[in-house]
Amino acid sequence: ERYRPAHCPHCGSGHPWHHGHYERKADRSPRGPENPVWIPRFYCRRCRHTCSRLPSCVAPRRWYGWAIQQCVLLYLWLSFSLSFTSLRFGPSRDTCRRWLRWL
Ligand SMILES: [Zn+2]
Repeated sequence: ERYRPAHCPHCGSGHPWHHGHYERKADRSPRGPENPVWIPRFYCRRCRHTCSRLPSCVAPRRWYGWAIQQCVLLYLWLSFSLSFTSLRFGPSRDTCRRWLRWL
């Protein structure tokens, strides 16, 4: 219930229905378990759209968790190479470079 949005993000109608869930792998660290997290999905009867709410432990639009992102950015900021950082934490060199540019 804590994740139920008060209003539909598409049309503003109140109290969307709980409409199942999907699983998202929350831990993509090289040696860690993937720890699937259930993401609740909601359905709006008025506009027939669905929406979901991510718990704060899952980074939106990213495969890697907050801690790995933080470590990668810290290492790159301290001038470690992309190759070293990629091997140490798991995301590819391109992903590490993209995060650095984003920062
Ligand atoms: Zn709606």
